[in-house]
Parts: sequence; structure tokens; C-alpha cells
Amino acid sequence: MSPRALTATYLSALGLIALMIVAGNAVATAYLERQERDARTINLAGRQRMLYLSISREALLLIRGGELAQRRQAAQKLGKALEEWERVHQALDQGDPELGLAPLDSPELRQQWERLRQTQSAIADSSHELLKADQRVRQAEAERLTQIILAQGERYLPQMDKLVFLYDEESRRRVTTLRRVEMALDGLTLLALVVVGLAVFRPMVRRIGQNLDRLTATAAMFQDLSFIDGLTGLANRRALDLHLEQEWRRLARSQGSLSLVMLDVDHFKRYNDFMGHLAGDDALRALARVLEGAARRPGDLAARFGGEEMVLVLTGTGLEDARLVAEQVRRQVEALGLERPDPDGCCRLTVSLGVASLVPGREVEPQRLIQAADQALYQAKAQGRNQVQTAAAA
Ligand code: GH3
Ligand code: MG
Ligand code: MG
Repeated sequence: MSPRALTATYLSALGLIALMIVAGNAVATAYLERQERDARTINLAGRQRMLYLSISREALLLIRGGELAQRRQAAQKLGKALEEWERVHQALDQGDPELGLAPLDSPELRQQWERLRQTQSAIADSSHELLKADQRVRQAEAERLTQIILAQGERYLPQMDKLVFLYDEESRRRVTTLRRVEMALDGLTLLALVVVGLAVFRPMVRRIGQNLDRLTATAAMFQDLSFIDGLTGLANRRALDLHLEQEWRRLARSQGSLSLVMLDVDHFKRYNDFMGHLAGDDALRALARVLEGAARRPGDLAARFGGEEMVLVLTGTGLEDARLVAEQVRRQVEALGLERPDPDGCCRLTVSLGVASLVPGREVEPQRLIQAADQALYQAKAQGRNQVQTAAAA
């Protein structure tokens, strides 16, 4: 998959997850609101029962109370309770935004409500009549109306109970549905996350891995192509060959001398053995700095030939001058004072150097100069090491 396609997939999945979270929140809010509304409705239904009990009590007091004042008070209380009872009844029936009530909407609830409505009307009508008539009504009529209120109450209370029960059941059903929707949304969100993992992250990681492999290969290729020796920082063998060829041609034209100093560390194996390979590396780096210091002219070059052998190319320099430079290098190396605890006594790190020089020409090759310097180096080793030997190359 291309990075653009991956980004598109990633963004789509992210958008989907965001949408699901928003939807989940909306569902949760709706669920909470619904629960609050249901609790309010059930509360009010309970209160209606209490109000009915007040109505029946005040109706009894009204017809049985002895004092006029007492009956007046009962009538007042009855009126108030009745008003509130009817108001809430209306709100439960049709819904009331102020009270946070929705109309009863399920068929089952509606049916129960219709049954209740008849009882409620009978109670309400009788109570109103009782109030309207007050003292003008005959005692017998008042008794009859109160009897209706009480008899209807026998039906009203269980009917109201049933309504609350039904409402509670329906509320629970609604809550279960909302929970299911929420769970489904959660499941979808998880699924989207898995899709992101499989469709975006896995290919992305694979792609990064591939790119890394490619980069590593490229880095290795560049290292191959580089001209610098990794350990010493000197020119490497490839750079040395190119440089020699270039200087060879230049000096062949100007008929100048080209000298080469070949350096080899004396008993370096022992140094490694006693000091460890890492200390051996440090020593090679120190020698490289000395050799670098000896390459002063623009055409001069210090290079690592291989292992513990290094080379110094000196352009426009004859054999004698090159020998002097080599001798200076030898002394500087000795002055470094790189010691090793050797039981044989000989412990300071030294180098042997072979010097060769020639005037480049068409008939000879740069290889010839290297061979001659190598021979001179062999001589220096043979004659006791820590010394400079020269060879005439041509
Ligand atoms: P000689 O005086 O005859 O040259 O003795 P030598 O021990 O120096 O010669 P030899 O060729 O036997 O050993 C060369 C040693 O140089 C062996 C090898 O471990 C060490 N050497 C080569 N390259 C490196 C390097 O990059 N780092 C380190 N620490 N040692 C190296
Ligand atoms: Mg060697
Ligand atoms: Mg050596």
C-alpha cells in the first residue's frame, strides 16, 4: 500500500472511531436523560396515590366534621389536593416539558391509562360536585358522593400500581436497548481499531522495515564507495590507488619525483596480545595522526594500506627528502611512548619504514613504486626493525 493510501485508510478509520465515540456519547446522554425522565414519572405516579388519599380523607372530614370551621378547612384542603391531582394527571397523560415528562406512548400503557382515566374521572367529578354543593347539598347526597370517591379509590389505587409497574418494565426495556446500542458502538470502535492495526500499522511497520533494509544496504554501499578508512580516518586503499594514478600522470608530465613511504608496526601482534585489540586500535589511530602530520604538501597523502601497514605518498619529493620525512615519522612514533608490559624487555611501540622514489614514466606502473617501498620495508625488518631503509625503484 502506498503511503498516501495508508494515510487515507488511517484517517478514515480515525474518522469512523471519532464518529463512533460521538454517537456513543449521544446514546449515553439519551440514556441518562431517559432514566431521569422515567424516575420523575414514577415519582409523580406515586405522588398521585398520596394525593388521592388526601382527597378521600378531606372528603370524609368534610361530611363528618362537626364544626363549620373544620369543614371549611377540609373543603379548602380538598380543593387544593384535587387541583394538584388533576394537573399532574393531565401532565402524565399528555406530557409536560416543564415537569420534564413525555406522554405515555406505548399501547400497553395507553390501555392501562384509559382504564385509570375512567376511575379518575369518577373520583374527580364526585369531588367537584361535593365541593360545589358544599352546605347546600343534602347530607345524604354528600354521603353518596363520598362513597363514590371511596369506592372508586378501591380501583384507582391498584390501577395506579399496575401503571407504575408497567411503566417501570418498559423503562427497563428501553434501558436494555440503549445499553445494547452502546455495546454495539463500543464493539464497532474496537473493530475499527483492529482494522487500523491490521490495515494500517502492519503494512506501515512492514514498509518501514523494508525501507530500513534498503537504507542499510545503501549505507553499506556508500561505505564501500567511501574513500576514508573507518578505523584511522586516513585515506583508504581505493583512495590511495586513485591518488597514486593521478599524481603519477601529473608528475610524468612535469618529470617530478614521486616517493612512497611504507610503514609497518613492529611486533604489533605482541602489542595486541598484551594490551588487547582495542588498545591496538588506539595505537593505530595515534600512528595515523603522526603520518597525517607528515603529509604537508597538497599532493601528499597518508593512507592505510591494510592491517597495521600505512603508506605516505610524497609528491615532488626525492629519495633523500622522503627518507628524512620517514625518519621523522619513526622518531615521532617512538616519542609517543606507547608501551606494553613485555617480559622480553623490548616494550616501546616502534615502526619500520621502507622508502622508494622514482620519476613516473609511461613504461613503469605505480605498482612498481609500492613494490620497491615494500622491499625496503622488508630490509628494515630484517635489519632489526625501528629503522628506515630506502630502495631505488627505477
Ligand atoms: P612484525 O614486526 O614482523 O611486523 O611483527 P607483527 O607482529 O607486527 O606482524 P604480523 O603481520 O605477524 O602481525 C600483524 C598484526 O597486526 C596482527 C594483527 O592482529 C594486527 N592487526 C592488523 N590490523 C589490525 C587492526 O585493525 N587493529 C588491531 N588492533 N590489530 C591489527
Ligand atoms: Mg604487517
Ligand atoms: Mg608488523
